[in-house]
Amino acid sequence: KSFAESKLPDDVLECCRNFSKPSPIQSHAWPFLLDRRDFIGIAATGSGKTLAFGVPAMMHVLSKRKSKTSKGVNPLCLVLSPTRELAQQISDVLCEAGKHCGVKSVCLYGGTSKGPQISSLKSGVDIVIGTPGRLKDLIEMGVCCLTEVSFVVLDEADRMLDMGFEPEVRSILSQTCPARQMVMFSATWPLPVHQLAQEFMDPNPVKV
Ligand code: AMP
Repeated sequence: KSFAESKLPDDVLECCRNFSKPSPIQSHAWPFLLDRRDFIGIAATGSGKTLAFGVPAMMHVLSKRKSKTSKGVNPLCLVLSPTRELAQQISDVLCEAGKHCGVKSVCLYGGTSKGPQISSLKSGVDIVIGTPGRLKDLIEMGVCCLTEVSFVVLDEADRMLDMGFEPEVRSILSQTCPARQMVMFSATWPLPVHQLAQEFMDPNPVKV
């Protein structure tokens, strides 16, 4: 499949200008995600999964703005990552990609001062990328509001649960919009991940 076949706007595809064609996970994920389906991807890092969910996340923001269902202050998309390093990698990709289509992302992780993260949130962001601990802190402080989040990505879900973040993940997910679209990426599919998917996703998610 080609980028032209994806029928995505040029400014959104600008982040892919150095690639010859969508990666397999991108070709599979984009049509379903643009069709607002819940999606489970069993894919490893290096497959191009960041843009597999990142491009649809930006499209989600643009469509919410167009339909004027967003006031443009609270985030509309959330990406949860188990580690600071992964969160930062995702954030680098999405911040760069968003420059071309006017979508703003912020990365929220622990081990660093909250001040700059709070300032970014106050200035208004479209996409929040975060680790569960810091995100829960900022929600409890009342500086991060997820009630308008209607596109959620759990990246490396198996690792997130292995690291003991299940209570935080559940608490965070329960604060997002009940009519959300959910995307889950995991390298493996153990029972706790399966159960989380059953609880928070549509009964019939697309599984690739
Ligand atoms: P990721 O799995 O998202 O960490 O991406 C792994 C690497 O693949 C990154 O260096 C991306 O820049 C690159 N990449 C993403 N999409 C494509 C594509 N369609 N074609 C070639 N490389 C890509």
